[in-house]
Amino acid sequence: FQNEPVIAGRMQRKQTYGVTVKNGKNTVLIGQGAPVVVQSMTNTDTSDVEATARQVAELARAGSELVRLTVNTSEAAKAVPLIRDRLDSLGYDVPLAGDFHYNGHLLLTRFPDCARALSKYRINPGNVGQGAKKDAHFADMIAVACRYDKPVRIGVNWGSLDQGLLERLMNENAERRQPWPVQSVMYEALISSAIGSADRAVELGLGQDRIVLSCKVSGVQDLIAVYRELSRRCPYALHLGLTEAGVGSKGIVASVAALSVLLQEGIGDTIRISLTPGPGEARTKEIVVAQELLQTMGMRNFAPVVVSCPGCGRTSSGLFQKLANSTQDYLRAQMPLWKDRFPGVETMSVAVMGCIVNGPGESRHANIGISLPGNGELPAVPVFEDGEKKTTLRGENIEGQFQEIILKYVES
Ligand code: SF4
Repeated sequence: FQNEPVIAGRMQRKQTYGVTVKNGKNTVLIGQGAPVVVQSMTNTDTSDVEATARQVAELARAGSELVRLTVNTSEAAKAVPLIRDRLDSLGYDVPLAGDFHYNGHLLLTRFPDCARALSKYRINPGNVGQGAKKDAHFADMIAVACRYDKPVRIGVNWGSLDQGLLERLMNENAERRQPWPVQSVMYEALISSAIGSADRAVELGLGQDRIVLSCKVSGVQDLIAVYRELSRRCPYALHLGLTEAGVGSKGIVASVAALSVLLQEGIGDTIRISLTPGPGEARTKEIVVAQELLQTMGMRNFAPVVVSCPGCGRTSSGLFQKLANSTQDYLRAQMPLWKDRFPGVETMSVAVMGCIVNGPGESRHANIGISLPGNGELPAVPVFEDGEKKTTLRGENIEGQFQEIILKYVES
């Protein structure tokens, strides 16, 4: 060989402070090289205790390791400890983060039960007030975090940037001999708002290991540029997410495009995929996308991976497509039962292939593989286990027979 061997990319995680987020005995570590944490946010009215507890439970069951809820009114603040109690009584110990804007200083100081019941606070420095009030409100919230030993995410957002800071940076830029592009000044405003607020929180007594930072924007290239610089300039744990990512496949593609570049560079300690749900679409979709992103990048394992071909003119019966989908649904549905009983099952791969062209080859690469007969092939269905042909299935109920084989494999 004339060339160097080609080696798969390896991610070197950026070292950040480790932030523990606790609820009872459940401790989630964000940063310090810990596995990237998957989180999400409810969209129920927080003052509706039953609906919010139900949605938090759904998100936790789907794999959300931290769930954020908006705390925007006195009623919402009063509901938070009741939601916590309801979840605890149902056996859900997922930590809750409270999302505060405008009146967070009032709610956190006037409702101590809410402040105690939450495991983490999110503060947006662009939404805590103006001028001297801003500093005082921010200090009030940090004082509550220190009093109850709660970590804080300082979450800056493109859509609610500190206007005073932006104006100052714009004026300074105008004085430069060679002014920066306006976009770069915006990036600088986001980054310096986040880092400046974090440094202020540390001055006020919050530990560096109690701070997570985020700088969310809605453009993929903007997000990559901002987080690269944010990561270069500070050692705080980082929360990644593309804000206002959008609806359907656009939201998924944009989020995954931005986050995968950053994660590959070792940037990011917790992620949230923000999707606008379609009518009737489950909120848990964002958890599935987040988990699949981390798993396909080789960073974490959540459920067995199904490898399947796209199908083509050789698979016009539709049988193979049905089997690929039902196998994926079956594996996901089993995971809550399997993950404690069969440690390591989440690293398994299952191939479901449409015909003889790539079927047997791909099936041999997986832990379990099945190659369906394409158009014109004999109605025999070979199944492979760990590279060896195990059996040949025939008859009507291929789906049931294949699931039995998977279950036996997992159990053994
Ligand atoms: Fe088509 Fe067969 Fe390739 Fe699947 S494996 S895409 S069915 S040729």
